[in-house]
Amino acid sequence: MTTVSAYAAPAAKAPLERTTIERREVGEFDVLIDIKYAGICHSDIHQAREGWGEAIFPMVPGHEIAGIVAEVGSGVTKFTVGDRVGVGCMVDSCRECDNCKAGLEQYCTQGAVMTYNGVGKDGEPTYGGYSQKIVVDENYVVGIPEGIGLDEAAPLLCAGVTTYSPLKHWNAGPGKKVAVVGMGGLGHMAVKIAHALGAEVTVLSQSLRKKDDGLKLGADHYYATSDPKTFEELAGTFDLIVSTVSAPLDFGAYLGLLKTDGALVNVGAPEEPISFNLFSVISGRKTLAGSSIGGIRETQEMLDFCAAHGLGAEIELIRADQINEAYERVLASDVRYRFVIDTATI
Ligand SMILES: [Zn+2]
Ligand SMILES: [Zn+2]
Repeated sequence: MTTVSAYAAPAAKAPLERTTIERREVGEFDVLIDIKYAGICHSDIHQAREGWGEAIFPMVPGHEIAGIVAEVGSGVTKFTVGDRVGVGCMVDSCRECDNCKAGLEQYCTQGAVMTYNGVGKDGEPTYGGYSQKIVVDENYVVGIPEGIGLDEAAPLLCAGVTTYSPLKHWNAGPGKKVAVVGMGGLGHMAVKIAHALGAEVTVLSQSLRKKDDGLKLGADHYYATSDPKTFEELAGTFDLIVSTVSAPLDFGAYLGLLKTDGALVNVGAPEEPISFNLFSVISGRKTLAGSSIGGIRETQEMLDFCAAHGLGAEIELIRADQINEAYERVLASDVRYRFVIDTATI
């Protein structure tokens, strides 16, 4: 075991504080990563505050991890010491179910082992990226190509793949009109990626406060959802809407913005159940769907795509002692567009 510095929430809703955790010895197929940067995802806050149900404490959040390989096990073939690597939301899965075999480990029928707030196959709780080192099986590690800084790459491991996966699955590309709901950590990456895929991109945000940024990042149009005229003007417009917000939407209103056969895909998750009228999907053969992160192969594909198109996240780099303040700012939508922790300050 190796003792590692980390930031943890000792209990639900408690502020995060500096502590130490134990990392397992590097096994035959393991990679030891010196973590350089860890993004702060909205879901870190949901989990640290038990907004999504009972959680495991102490909790070291963080599933947007970028770092350098420091040691590899004797059986490791994919990575060598010094490689630039990332770890996202999963660190293991059953590897045998149809979904795992298809590269959809995030939908593992046995339940993937999440990077934190999970239990590993060794029965021990998992601890995430707000720490200086992590040991992960090589099959759940991805390479970060040259051409993306490790700091701007970290958020791609969750925010990047969470938006890339549905955009690819629902065929965002040339000739397609795609709307992105919300201009936060996920939304700004959805705009960049949808634009790079060749789609015509519209941002639907509560206000026009971030309009200049949205257009700069690749949006063609930008509308305020607080203005009822937006929903009249854009009725029947989009092939695909990707909602990145975790506040409950008026689904009937948003489904009304889709063309026939269009899809509204949710990647943000409200803490409460939602309700909407089924005629919103019956009329126009529309789809209301959800999508969760992406598989390991797809995460690598997304990183290669982002490197090829010069895409990284827009970040605000912070020290570890600013994490609690950063959480409050995320909740107030006061970040452009992702906080990233410099783990040297942990
Ligand atoms: Zn996340
Ligand atoms: Zn599986």
